Amino acid sequence: MSEISPAFGGSRVSRRQALGAAAVGAAAVGGLLAGSGNALAQVASAAVRVTEQRERAVVVGSGFGGGVSALRLAQAGVSTLVLERGLRWPTGPNADTFCRFANMDNRSAWLTDHSVVPGVDKTWTPYTGVIEAVEGNGMTANCGAAVGGGSIMYHGMTLQPTKANFAASMPMAANLYDELNLWAYPRVANMLGISTIPDDILKTDPYKSSRLFNDVATKSGLKPFRVPLPIDWSFVRGELDGRYAPTYTTSDIAFGVNNGGKHSIDVTYLAAAEATGRVRVATLHVVKDIAMDANKRWVLLVDRIDTAGVVQEKIRITADAVFLNAGSPGTTRLLVKSRAKGLIPDLPDSIGTQWGNNGDRIYAWIGMNGDAGTQQGGPACVGGAAPLSPIPLTIIHAGAPAALEGVKLMTVVGFGVVPAAGTWAYDATKDDAVLTWPLAADAALQTLIAARAVAGGGVMVDTNTAAPSTWHSLGGVPMGSAVDMNGRVTGHKGLYVLDGSRIPGSTGACNPSMTIAALAEHSMSRIVASDVGRVF
Ligand SMILES: Cc1cc2nc3c(=O)[nH]c(=O)nc-3n(C[C@H](O)[C@H](O)[C@H](O)COP(=O)(O)OP(=O)(O)OC[C@H]3O[C@@H](n4cnc5c(N)ncnc54)[C@H](O)[C@@H]3O)c2cc1C
Repeated sequence: MSEISPAFGGSRVSRRQALGAAAVGAAAVGGLLAGSGNALAQVASAAVRVTEQRERAVVVGSGFGGGVSALRLAQAGVSTLVLERGLRWPTGPNADTFCRFANMDNRSAWLTDHSVVPGVDKTWTPYTGVIEAVEGNGMTANCGAAVGGGSIMYHGMTLQPTKANFAASMPMAANLYDELNLWAYPRVANMLGISTIPDDILKTDPYKSSRLFNDVATKSGLKPFRVPLPIDWSFVRGELDGRYAPTYTTSDIAFGVNNGGKHSIDVTYLAAAEATGRVRVATLHVVKDIAMDANKRWVLLVDRIDTAGVVQEKIRITADAVFLNAGSPGTTRLLVKSRAKGLIPDLPDSIGTQWGNNGDRIYAWIGMNGDAGTQQGGPACVGGAAPLSPIPLTIIHAGAPAALEGVKLMTVVGFGVVPAAGTWAYDATKDDAVLTWPLAADAALQTLIAARAVAGGGVMVDTNTAAPSTWHSLGGVPMGSAVDMNGRVTGHKGLYVLDGSRIPGSTGACNPSMTIAALAEHSMSRIVASDVGRVF
């Protein structure tokens, strides 16, 4: 593996050389480092070095979009630098890589002094932990902050939407579906090694709640199915036969799976990309701004931080091509900032619009007709679809890591097609873009989800009422207006967006990762064919 911190490869040039070049002479860019009154200039001090670097292609973010981009660029012969703000989290049998739910610590949260889990009253020293909670008006967007992005702490539900549901969420991309179905979704499935829970595991005690879900789902008029997961089930068997400490079998996976066996992006797409020798991954590198220079090249202003978030070095990277894959909140924030600060001229007006939460909501299903048990195995391996619902929706059982003795409780997640009603606006006092989500936007969907579940017995408690949040942030840089169908930013050669930010609000009543990756595969095939060697 090519770990690149603090000094990474590529053609690093001296500050003097670079500053002397016309290529980095744009006033807006220079102002960010030398000027006064902005956050970057304030953070910079005499003690923080500023270095310059030249790259052909840079990928920002190492999740689904980033992993696919890096691998396909490398295979096309393009030397590529991946900038990732988070850390690597290597796992293996009986590892103690991630904190557990009952003993939550600073590894769970990105540079905060408190837990990002609502209701958990714990404080600590800030650390570059795995989840960032991006607080907006009416919605907190939770997202991954690690090498591998959201694949590190996600359950791994890997669902492909039906053609009709795909079109309901993404009408502008409906004509891509047949091709995605033919090769892009299968390619992702193959790379992630997905499979459903085997019968012998589903029969065991820890999966009692999953069996019960199948039973009550049918009574609720849902069509039960087993959820495809990127899991090596032999690791679950290792827990069941006592070789490994429980983590899958207790659903203690909210911050990552300690035992390993999960085919996350760091050990699949990124590992394959690095194995080509053309991809370098720079961890703890936070992209603060993106600008265009006088020669229409892309300039990334990057802070290299330590695990406490303290800036160790400021780096200005000039690149021929930039692939923004910082996730829906990350990419949207960067581009909304660039437009507001005039760092890139003529960015599309639609940047910062068409954001949605995928209808994602966590419910506690209490008193359903049967005992779900106190040990509820995971990852979320059974779900139910509602084929005739007026709004496409899916409900999946995700085991509770701390189910209560004597309480018949099962946690379920529901999601579906929602209007992409969220917007992001620049706030100069924070030097950041802030999300606003109208709470009523997914109300009709939630009414349908709750009614479905209740039909199976018991009551549904919406755990998001007090503090609305989502794990499924989507949109902000929508396809069809801000970017074309291949992720090219409108009017800006060499600038691409291939992550969840280009999907307007929902992914056809499915968890998003499979569709983000499949669309990235599709776009990269076009970009490699048309842009490599021509645009960059
Ligand atoms: C707890 C949790 C559970 C989930 N469960 C599921 C599930 O079971 N199934 C599913 O399909 N989806 C799930 N999701 C959602 C899924 O993880 C995301 O939809 C997916 O990861 C988004 O992919 P992406 O490529 O858009 O961005 P991400 O995977 O989020 O990757 C973005 C990367 O960019 C990095 N980054 C951000 N800003 C910067 C910056 N300024 N500089 C440098 N790097 C930056 C981040 O650290 C991150 O690594 C879950 C999410 C969470 C948080």
